[in-house]
Amino acid sequence: MSETTTQGVKSVPDYFGCNVFNEETMKARLPKNVYKSLLKTKQLGIPLDADVAEVVASAMREWAVEKGATHYTHWFHPMTGVTAEKHDSFISPTNDGKVIMEFSGKELIKGEPDASSFPSGGLRATFEARGYTAWDPTSPAFVKDGSLYIPTAFCSYTGEILDKKTPLLRSMEILSEQALRVLRLFGNTTATRVTTTVGPEQEYFLIDKKLYDQREDLILTGRTLFGAKAPKGQELEDHYFGNIKTRISEYMKDLDEELWKLGILSKTKHNEVAPAQHEMAPIFTTSNVAADQNALTMEIMKKVALKHGLVCLLHEKPFAGVNGSGKHNNWSMSTNDGQNLLDPGDDPKDNFQFLTFLAAIIKAVDEYADLLRISVASAGNDHRLGANEAPPAIISIFLGDELQQIVDALESGKMITENKDKEFVIGVEALPNFPKDTTDRNRTSPFAFTGNKFEFRALGSADTISCTNYILNTIVAKELKEFADELEGSKDFAADLNKLLVKTIKEHKRVIFNGNGYDDSWIEGAKKRGLPNYVSTVDAVAHYTDEKNVKMFEEFKVLTKPELESRKEIILENYSKIINIEALTMVDMTRKQIVPSAFTFSKQLADAMVSKKEIGVNFDAEKKLADKVSSLTNQILEAVDTLDSKLIDSKDITDAEANARFFREYVFSAMQSLRAVVDELETITPSTVWPYPTYTDLLFRV
Ligand code: ADP
Ligand code: MG
Repeated sequence: MSETTTQGVKSVPDYFGCNVFNEETMKARLPKNVYKSLLKTKQLGIPLDADVAEVVASAMREWAVEKGATHYTHWFHPMTGVTAEKHDSFISPTNDGKVIMEFSGKELIKGEPDASSFPSGGLRATFEARGYTAWDPTSPAFVKDGSLYIPTAFCSYTGEILDKKTPLLRSMEILSEQALRVLRLFGNTTATRVTTTVGPEQEYFLIDKKLYDQREDLILTGRTLFGAKAPKGQELEDHYFGNIKTRISEYMKDLDEELWKLGILSKTKHNEVAPAQHEMAPIFTTSNVAADQNALTMEIMKKVALKHGLVCLLHEKPFAGVNGSGKHNNWSMSTNDGQNLLDPGDDPKDNFQFLTFLAAIIKAVDEYADLLRISVASAGNDHRLGANEAPPAIISIFLGDELQQIVDALESGKMITENKDKEFVIGVEALPNFPKDTTDRNRTSPFAFTGNKFEFRALGSADTISCTNYILNTIVAKELKEFADELEGSKDFAADLNKLLVKTIKEHKRVIFNGNGYDDSWIEGAKKRGLPNYVSTVDAVAHYTDEKNVKMFEEFKVLTKPELESRKEIILENYSKIINIEALTMVDMTRKQIVPSAFTFSKQLADAMVSKKEIGVNFDAEKKLADKVSSLTNQILEAVDTLDSKLIDSKDITDAEANARFFREYVFSAMQSLRAVVDELETITPSTVWPYPTYTDLLFRV
């Protein structure tokens, strides 16, 4: 996949970002004025003019062709949850029957893919199936596999949003606007932009490709639908941070190299809790670039694995009985004058500012917990949330002891006073320097303060981070706006700020929970506090279009009501489709592989009984086992028929929500019943007869 060999030849700084049309390349290849105006577009989010686009396109093409590219593609994030690309070559015919390589500004700025085959949740009428892609100059273009990739947004011709990038970009704009208003209140006159930053930690499994190929469930669904527990799991806690097998470390080295060439700041790698599970964390960057790079990372992870005879599983729950995979979304806001707004800072004055942003976040998470839950809702992630390996489906905030004390003091109302110079002062000299979280102090909280950022831990490993981040940005922007509206006209800022913060903490402290989120008592506790607990995707997604949510998204023009409705429908349909595929795969495997294997085993036992009878030897053991196999096989046949009939019933339900609920309540439980008997049969069947590799093979033979 790589154009340049870097193995042992070049040092990392030499090849880092070599396949990216980054600022350095632009500076070197663009006329100064063009470079400057492009930079402005990137930093201020203002639209690009056509002349500039022409020059940029030509420089991009020249650079890409030098890198071996023959094609370009508008790369976008439709609602499928995976990226999409359609490649056009640069060739353009000349009069003498030859070709030249061309790429115009228009082609750079706008593409017109046929949108009819992408999910729209009923937004586009089929006669208006055209969509268009628009260049996002804030995320750098790159060369991969012989094509120039141009990050783009994807809309319908009538302007409806059909992707995950557009709302993210909009949410970043509005957050910047509102955060600046709050910063001005604290006397900041230098910052002109606030950007949200994200560092997504990515978990994954690696298994042997030869074993993977023998399992229809892994091939079709990305997870094992059957499989008895291996004698060993993760109970010895010997895998987390354990030494890395040579084969895996070679993979990780190769992965780092590929990511670095694409300008992705891959930083940390280690083994995770479950056997065969690992993690990669990049250094954080702006949200939209982080979202693009995370999508790219997932793709590269899978491709590099194949080169090593491995398969990278990004599914949230590839194996029952051991931990699934998530994606920790480390999130903060920073100013272009160099301030991390979630870093309490040393100056007491900054502390107020910090506490104000903190209060806005607490309020946002409390009021829009449902949206945060929805942002991580998927069939795959339903296996994790609340299963004592990932945070519960209840959204709460962890502050930690140090910060909790400050918040308590704040709530008492005595924290902020005015001194004789009419300056506001805080009850303590300066906030303590909170210890930065290096060891996951509280892994059980979905939304944890970790020293200078919040870590949202409920995201699934296979999901894009876009949805979580546009929701997070929008809800925080909404609260910042409320704060700014209230304080901007204030005659006595210290007193009014104090009042506002006390009120906010009082009203929203119910969302703060520093205890053990895995504890069963928390479910009761959260209920008493009135916090929502949407256990499944179906329960959660129904609230996407609740009035308060529609109102907020429309107020900030992030998404319209029809767009939210379409998103809801897409998630529900996707949920039903995934469970449908999983169920069909189980039926197929059961009838074509598992039951025939059971018969093979039965026959072996029957043959042994016949032989033993002939020579007068007791065959009680064989008989006992044969009876057990027969009885389990009968149960399997019944369970598979039940599952099949539920699938037939589901076809009559046309409403997306009712259908998803049916899949959750009836199909999914029929799948679990079938799995239970099949897994039991696996434990008594010889491995020579069993049709697919076992958990021991998959998890320990890498
Ligand atoms: P841990 O496993 O303890 O959570 P890691 O070092 O694996 O810690 O991950 C921390 C992540 O948080 C990294 O991706 C890091 O770049 C990111 N991060 C650090 N500071 C910020 C910030 N200001 N904004 C967003 N992400 C950040
Ligand atoms: Mg973490």
